[in-house]
Amino acid sequence: MHEISLVRNIFQTLEDEFPGKMDRIRGIYLRVGLLSNVQPILMQNAFNAVLEDEPQYRNTSLHMEILPVLIHCDECGKNSEVKFSKYVCGNCGRPSRNIIQGEELMISSVEFAEQTEYINNQ
Ligand SMILES: [Zn+2]
Repeated sequence: MHEISLVRNIFQTLEDEFPGKMDRIRGIYLRVGLLSNVQPILMQNAFNAVLEDEPQYRNTSLHMEILPVLIHCDECGKNSEVKFSKYVCGNCGRPSRNIIQGEELMISSVEFAEQTEYINNQ
């Protein structure tokens, strides 16, 4: 199941990026293009499965923002959203395969729990 390795890669990337902070990770925010071959439900299932193997991350939740497919029209210069797999410009109606959004799978942000500072006033 390729989603499992995707989830593991995401955690690996974050471990490399935020060494020493991963014990406080609480949320991972992904941007998932509709053409990225990632099914959100399978991604969520894979995430849950990885958390069972990695109990240190059990307080972490996964959030996915689904990005629609956008094409750019070379004729009129407008961008439009692809609906019902119709790759035509919403402005002038000409066909375009110039995809500018929809193939990405990226981490948009990461949420960490606030570090609690204990100050002894006594
Ligand atoms: Zn156009």
